[in-house]
Amino acid sequence: MIPFNKPHMTGKELQYIAEAHAGGHLAGDGKFTKKCHAWFEERLGTRKALLTHSCTAALEMAAILCDLAPGDEVIMPSYTFVSTANAFVLRGAVPVFVDIRADNLNIDENLIEAAITERTRAIVAVHYAGIACEMDKIMEIAQRHGLLVIEDAAQALLSTYKGKQLGTIGHMGCLSFHETKNIISGEGGALLVNDARFAERAEIIREKGTNRSQFFRGQVDKYTWVDIGSSYLPSELIGAFLFAQLEHADEIIARRRYIFSRYAELLEKLEEKGHCHLPAREKEGSSGNGHMFYLIMESLEARSNLTRHLKEMGILAVFHYVPLHSSATGKKYGRAHGSLDVTDNLSDRLLRLPLYYDLQEEEIVKVAQAVHSFFGEG
Ligand SMILES: *Cc1c(COP(=O)(O)O)cnc(C)c1O
Repeated sequence: MIPFNKPHMTGKELQYIAEAHAGGHLAGDGKFTKKCHAWFEERLGTRKALLTHSCTAALEMAAILCDLAPGDEVIMPSYTFVSTANAFVLRGAVPVFVDIRADNLNIDENLIEAAITERTRAIVAVHYAGIACEMDKIMEIAQRHGLLVIEDAAQALLSTYKGKQLGTIGHMGCLSFHETKNIISGEGGALLVNDARFAERAEIIREKGTNRSQFFRGQVDKYTWVDIGSSYLPSELIGAFLFAQLEHADEIIARRRYIFSRYAELLEKLEEKGHCHLPAREKEGSSGNGHMFYLIMESLEARSNLTRHLKEMGILAVFHYVPLHSSATGKKYGRAHGSLDVTDNLSDRLLRLPLYYDLQEEEIVKVAQAVHSFFGEG
């Protein structure tokens, strides 16, 4: 069986966990967590990186930092994971769902402005499959209307947009290290604070609403309850695991990008013959991180048939999001702006192929051949 995903271990995870254990500091913000923070700050060029339990937790922190009042609106795609919306709903805000682009399933930047009302406070850019949203346009709209921009870069670590790292362009960025992502710690995430105005408050929210971080740095002589917050910082064991992964980040991304390009090469003919669509090619100056390779089939039925065909050949391919606006909870707490035709249409037809670091060349070829055989090609 070729699974859809297989977590990749780089080799030093257990050694670093043992070092953390031997060091006797197991709570958050120890040596390894600080090494991770420094890695993100140096490599990505963000003002401040803070490890969290998950991208979900980072999104919740971002939503608190947006200082929303009940009824405030946040513009986002419907084609995303539930956490993108939940984080804002938990603050009493209303997700306003906008349609996506047919070429990369990212929010359609040309539809954002029409969805803005006097209650709009923020835009969430979700970089689907690690491919960048049109950030220049999104930042320009946000600036003109005085809105905040949060990047849900859960899938997008080390992807770039016009030379800039994804997650560092908006006011805040959220990363995930869930085991299905490129760089992992089982569960895990990070908040990237790109705008210095939010840095101090982000630390406080992450430390249960206390100024404990300042206390540890000797900036205050006791710590107290100064704001709302929660426990968003992970144990040092997670930081140790993650740092072992970060040391191999470039190699992991390079391998995944290679697998992506092999699939594209092997399946290109099927697109030319009109059987299905492949993910859009990279734009000049921007690069993906090989997070995902998908096919857009002709119909929902064709997708179900291909899924079954691949399964019979020992290959697990999976579809993705059920659009949030079509769920009961999405209808209760959010609203769709305009028609979401592209979202409805493409979400039914998208199928993701196995893509993970340890996927072997013979397996890539096997998957590609199985897809060819489905279409009666070679
Ligand atoms: C994976 C993912 C999340 C959630 O990440 P967790 O770390 O599991 O909380 C949020 N948004 C998007 C777009 C994701 O792909």
